[in-house]
Amino acid sequence: MGDVAVIGAGIAGLAAAGELAARGLRPVVFDKGRGPGGRVSTRRAGAFSFDHGAQYFTARESEFRARVDAWLAAGAVARWDARIVAFENGTRRASSDPIARYVGTPEMNALPKHLARGLDVRCSLRVARAEFRERRWLLRDENEAPLGEFDALLATLPHAQFIELLGAATPLSARAATSVVEPCWAVLAGFAARLDTDFDAAFCNAPALSWIARNSSKPGRSTAESWVLHATPAWTRAHLEEPKELVAAALLREFEHLTGLRLPAPAHLDAHRWRYALPAPVATPEPAWLDPERQLALAGDACVGGRVEGAFTSGLAAARALFAQR
Ligand SMILES: Cc1cc2nc3c(=O)[nH]c(=O)nc-3n(C[C@H](O)[C@H](O)[C@H](O)COP(=O)(O)OP(=O)(O)OC[C@H]3O[C@@H](n4cnc5c(N)ncnc54)[C@H](O)[C@@H]3O)c2cc1C
Repeated sequence: MGDVAVIGAGIAGLAAAGELAARGLRPVVFDKGRGPGGRVSTRRAGAFSFDHGAQYFTARESEFRARVDAWLAAGAVARWDARIVAFENGTRRASSDPIARYVGTPEMNALPKHLARGLDVRCSLRVARAEFRERRWLLRDENEAPLGEFDALLATLPHAQFIELLGAATPLSARAATSVVEPCWAVLAGFAARLDTDFDAAFCNAPALSWIARNSSKPGRSTAESWVLHATPAWTRAHLEEPKELVAAALLREFEHLTGLRLPAPAHLDAHRWRYALPAPVATPEPAWLDPERQLALAGDACVGGRVEGAFTSGLAAARALFAQR
């Protein structure tokens, strides 16, 4: 085994490709997005900047903590010591969780960019067909153009899309069908002046909002007052197909209602719908799902129940499992 196709340049795919390359294999990473990162993503609008997917990450396991130390030393991430509160049943309290929170610098997307360095990452390419023939994987894009032939395939795309791509070709599809991934509407709001709050972020136990954060309070950002609001899964499901303008306006009103602030008209307002945002917790997390007969692995946060650390750990585990199969 030498050539491995990795589908997805999110944290899982990049972790996997880095591990395969370190073991002397030749991974090629395909992503349909314009750049690497997947849900670790940043959008800019003039001076405003919004990490509209993952907000920060934590590091619990020792191997991942060691990686984070290296990223800190390289300046790709920094600690975010935010003033965080929690809104619950109409009251507000300081969030008591002392855990270290990390963010990419100068934007969340800096971490995937750092991980992609030195790897063969091909963006704006959607893998639309994957066939296993004569012990080789043949990939094609949506125009049926060949993307290459590979000895092994490591997929990190959302499980619903994995099933669309591979269907009955692998027993992993039946297992992927049991994964539950919640959607999330994100609002990106920029203001001409700083909002009068004494907190930078809040966990919201509210019907509509789950999280609000002053993105500009993260290290390395511009000072332009940029806020990200995340809707709860239930609210998102109920408003999934609504126009983004209505969603943005409704969630801004919820922001006012929750905090008691009178918001000025935003200088920038947008919304982004994450159709596959947050995997539900899984009963028995298994980082690497392997189909050894086909030299196929499935990895990503949904295999372990979510989060950046889970995605990274899953990517590493899948790469190691495939390598062990050679
Ligand atoms: C709103 C939101 C808030 C979050 N908050 C946090 C948080 O605070 N802390 C935390 O730790 N985690 C958070 N997460 C979760 C975190 O972002 C994910 O766990 C992690 O980024 C998942 O990485 P991944 O590589 O498994 O998947 P992804 O990042 O989804 O990567 C999959 C990649 O596959 C690509 N792809 C899909 N189909 C194809 C195809 N056919 N061909 C080519 N490419 C394809 C996609 O473009 C994507 O780049 C949040 C996520 C969201 C959406």
